[in-house]
Amino acid sequence: MLAQEDIRALEEIVGKENVSVREADLVAHSIDESWMEPHLPDVVVWPVSTEQVSAILRYANERELPIVPWSGGSSLEGNPVPVYGGIALAMYRMNKVLELREEDLQVVVQPGVVYAELNKQLRRRGMFFPPAPGSSEVATIGGMVANNSSGMRAVKYGVTRDYVLKLQVVLPGGMVIEAGSLAKKTTSGYDLVRLFVGSEGTLGVVTEVTLRLIGLPENVAVVVAVFDTLEDATNAVYECVRYGLDPSALEFLDELTVRATNEQQGLSLRIKPTIFVEFHGNEAGIAEQIEYLRELCEDNNCLDFQMAVTEEERERLWAARRDAHDSIKLSHPGCTMIAGDICVPISKFGEMVSFVHELSEREGIIIYAFGHAGDGNLHTEAIAWRDRPEIFQKAVRATEKIVEHALDLGGTVAGEHGVGWIKREFMVREHGPSLEVMRAIKRALDPKGIMNPGKIFPSN
Ligand SMILES: Cc1cc2nc3c(=O)[nH]c(=O)nc-3n(C[C@H](O)[C@H](O)[C@H](O)COP(=O)(O)OP(=O)(O)OC[C@H]3O[C@@H](n4cnc5c(N)ncnc54)[C@H](O)[C@@H]3O)c2cc1C
Repeated sequence: MLAQEDIRALEEIVGKENVSVREADLVAHSIDESWMEPHLPDVVVWPVSTEQVSAILRYANERELPIVPWSGGSSLEGNPVPVYGGIALAMYRMNKVLELREEDLQVVVQPGVVYAELNKQLRRRGMFFPPAPGSSEVATIGGMVANNSSGMRAVKYGVTRDYVLKLQVVLPGGMVIEAGSLAKKTTSGYDLVRLFVGSEGTLGVVTEVTLRLIGLPENVAVVVAVFDTLEDATNAVYECVRYGLDPSALEFLDELTVRATNEQQGLSLRIKPTIFVEFHGNEAGIAEQIEYLRELCEDNNCLDFQMAVTEEERERLWAARRDAHDSIKLSHPGCTMIAGDICVPISKFGEMVSFVHELSEREGIIIYAFGHAGDGNLHTEAIAWRDRPEIFQKAVRATEKIVEHALDLGGTVAGEHGVGWIKREFMVREHGPSLEVMRAIKRALDPKGIMNPGKIFPSN
């Protein structure tokens, strides 16, 4: 609990107008997009500079006050939820593109820049930052760095971590460090950039990010392939990866997800297991890839193989895929969705999807399955209602079983959404003794444990 003198000290750092204890502001920063109950911070603070962030962290560290960075608030695992109250550090006003170095394909941004906004600006210069999360319109670069987010284009281009060259980070005592290098490669010492990326605000606050960019592709093509059975669809996914196709996106939607997408987005896809496959490249190369894909889909009893010809058609398909989460929610008014984000080796993807469907039937719980299939990354949404506790508990437990099965198959609890609060108890099982190394790093950088307490690490 913060005292009046703490509020006054924060006001002195950022100005009275950038500190709030108003209920509406506390409520707005008490949640993310997960199913967690809200937890109110004691105060919301909006810094606008690295110096202010440094002064806030120095003060919070002295007084041992929790600091929870909160940016777009679009996390799905309770990552920015202030479970122990304290200071919600709202980073989204630090939202300037500071420098575009076209000659080196690099951009320097403040952490509050929104992904889609950044790419809109970059596109005019023929460049882009590729990960493409489904939450593009709200996810900020700071949140993406902290969660090591990825998305539809990771199958070809990799994840956020692969694009971060340098980070400016404020450590809990207020020290400002610059980690990384502008050089494309470096073997100079420990790779602190890779440590901070994916640390979910538990080690420090990111105040500046230098990203490497790539050139826009010459051509784009999208194919929609429909299959009679789940097994055929997931086999086709496997063979795409195994036999060396190079898609820029390879997404899977089960029947339920296709139905919700049709209903909510006005599409008329066949209600069958479906894959969306995108290619980037020159015309001849794409044509070759599509022919190869066609053969491979036919070998797996494909019912329908269609190309989205116009840019408008392609955009509609990707918008529908991006909005799958919202379509599912709208299909069950008043529901709470219990999200899963497991990732398994590609040869196990089909087995994972079958497991989810069998579980859904066995437990009598509606579970949607879709995701970034080319990476082995499966998203699940178990449908629950808060006023029906039995179903709620079953949906939570079913999602835990999905995670356990992914771990049995050599996978991970978190393909791209991070661990947050919700998945933390699985960390011992996934990491064993190396979790102790993570704890030692946390203690070294944040000895008083003020940074986003309760996240990533299990309760014991
Ligand atoms: C519909 C929907 C679709 C989604 N699709 C995808 C997807 O395809 N791929 C994917 O990876 N994710 C996806 N997500 C999850 C989420 O959108 C991403 O993880 C996103 O990058 C979070 O960014 P944010 O700005 O909302 O961060 P927040 O949710 O505000 O914060 C995320 C984490 O970062 C920390 N943090 C925020 N800013 C900073 C900072 N400056 N310094 C240090 N720590 C900081 C927070 O404390 C928190 O732990 C989706 C979410 C939704 C709701």
